[in-house]
Amino acid sequence: MTGIRIREDVCTRCGECVAACPFGAIEITGGTGATSGLPRVNDSCTLCGACTDSCPVGAIEIARDSGAGPAPDHKDVWVFAEQRGGRIAGVVFELLGEGRKLADSLGQRLGAALLGSGVRGLAPELIAHGADVVYVADDPCLDRFRDEPYALVLEGMVNKYSPNIILFGATSTGRSLAPRLAGKLRTGLTADCTGLEIDTETGLLRQTRPAFGGNIMATILCRKARPQMATVRPRVMKRAGADPGRAGEVIPFAVDSGRMRIRTDVLEFVEEVTDTVSIEDADIIVSGGRGLGEARNFSLIQDLARAMKAAVGASRAAVDSGWIAYSHQVGQTGKTVCPKIYIAVGISGAVQHLAGMQGSEVIIAINKDPEAPIFKVATLGIVGDLFEVVPALTKELRKASGAD
Ligand SMILES: Cc1cc2nc3c(=O)[nH]c(=O)nc-3n(C[C@H](O)[C@H](O)[C@H](O)COP(=O)(O)OP(=O)(O)OC[C@H]3O[C@@H](n4cnc5c(N)ncnc54)[C@H](O)[C@@H]3O)c2cc1C
Repeated sequence: MTGIRIREDVCTRCGECVAACPFGAIEITGGTGATSGLPRVNDSCTLCGACTDSCPVGAIEIARDSGAGPAPDHKDVWVFAEQRGGRIAGVVFELLGEGRKLADSLGQRLGAALLGSGVRGLAPELIAHGADVVYVADDPCLDRFRDEPYALVLEGMVNKYSPNIILFGATSTGRSLAPRLAGKLRTGLTADCTGLEIDTETGLLRQTRPAFGGNIMATILCRKARPQMATVRPRVMKRAGADPGRAGEVIPFAVDSGRMRIRTDVLEFVEEVTDTVSIEDADIIVSGGRGLGEARNFSLIQDLARAMKAAVGASRAAVDSGWIAYSHQVGQTGKTVCPKIYIAVGISGAVQHLAGMQGSEVIIAINKDPEAPIFKVATLGIVGDLFEVVPALTKELRKASGAD
C-alpha cells in the first residue's frame, strides 16, 4: 500500500511537516485524546517527500508498493516541456513527435508537463504539436530552472496523475532534472536514447542506446518501476509537425511556493555571446579532425565554414588536442547534429564520431586515405590532401558568392 505513514510513538507534534508541505496536505489533529496534535495527511498529498525531509525525528515515512510489478493505474506518455524565458526548447517538439507514436501504439494519451512562470500561454503550441493534455504548473518559483523546485513539483504531478512513460530532452536541464526525479520516484532512467518503441507483447518501453563506447546498441527495459523514464538528445528524433486546429485539455497544477524549502537562488543569467552559429542549430557544419595536424590549421576549417555560412564542428581528437573548445565536439560524448550538409575534413569516421552525425542529410568527406571508414557513410567522398582540397573549395565558394 502506497502512502504516508506517521509513527505516533516518535512524532513530537512539532508541526514542522505542516510548514514544509508545498501542497497544504498536512493538518494537525484537534481534540484532547492520544492522537491530539498528530499530523494527518489529506487528499492533496502528492507523496513528494518534503515532509519526510523536514521531520527532525524521522517520524514520517513514505510506504511504496514494491516488487510485484508496476501499478496497473499508470498510463499515458508524458513529455517534459522544457522552456526557457517562455520559449519551448526545440527538443520538446521532437519528443512530442516520438511520444505521439508511443502513445498511439499503447492506445494512451500524450501529455506534456509544463513548468515555469507565466507559461500557461505555451500550452496551445504543445497541443498543436501532438499533446492531448498539458499539465501546467505556473508559479514565480519556477521562473528560472532550479533542480529543487522543478523536481519537487514534477514529482507531485507524477504522483497525482501516474504517467506510464516520461521523456526528457538530454539538455543540461533535462540531464539535471531527470535523474533527480528518477531517484525520488525510485524508478529507472535510460539516458541518451537513440531509439524508443513499445514492445507489442508486454507493452514495455524498449529504450535503445549505444553502449560500450558505441560498439553495441543496448535495449533497456524498466519492467517493474513506474514511470519508465528516458532522455533523448536534441536532433536525434524527427520534429513533430504542427496542427494549430488540434484540440487538447489544459490542467492547472497548484503550487504553494511559499511553503517550499529551496536552497538555491538564481542571481543572474548570462547568455553566452558568440559570433559563430551553434552546431546544434546549424544547417551546414564543417568539422575538422586530427588530419589537420596542428591548432593553427583549424583556420582552414573556419575559412571554409565562413564561406558557406556554416558552423564549425570537430572530432574528439581535435578537441582533446586543444585545437577547439569542447562545445564544438560532434559524437557520442559530444553533440548529436543533424544538418542538411555535414563536411568531415581529416576525420577518420570512428563509430563514436558517426554516432553524432550520421543522421545528416548529405555527408561530404575529405580524407587522403581511400579506406577511411568515413567514406562508408559519405554521400560524396573526396580522396585527397585536405591542405589542397579545402583552400581550393573555399576559394571557389568565395568566388561564387562574389566575396572575392
Ligand atoms: C567512449 C568514447 C567516446 C568517444 N566520443 C567521441 C566523440 O564524441 N566524438 C569523436 O569524434 N570521437 C569520440 N571518440 C574518439 C574516437 O574513437 C576517435 O578516436 C576519434 O573520433 C578520432 O578522431 P579523428 O577522426 O579526428 O582522428 P583520426 O582517427 O586520427 O583520423 C584522422 C584522419 O585524418 C586523415 N588525414 C590525415 N592527414 C590528412 C590530410 N593531409 N588530408 C586529408 N586527410 C588526412 C587520416 O587519413 C585519418 O583518417 C570517443 C572514444 C571513446 C572510447
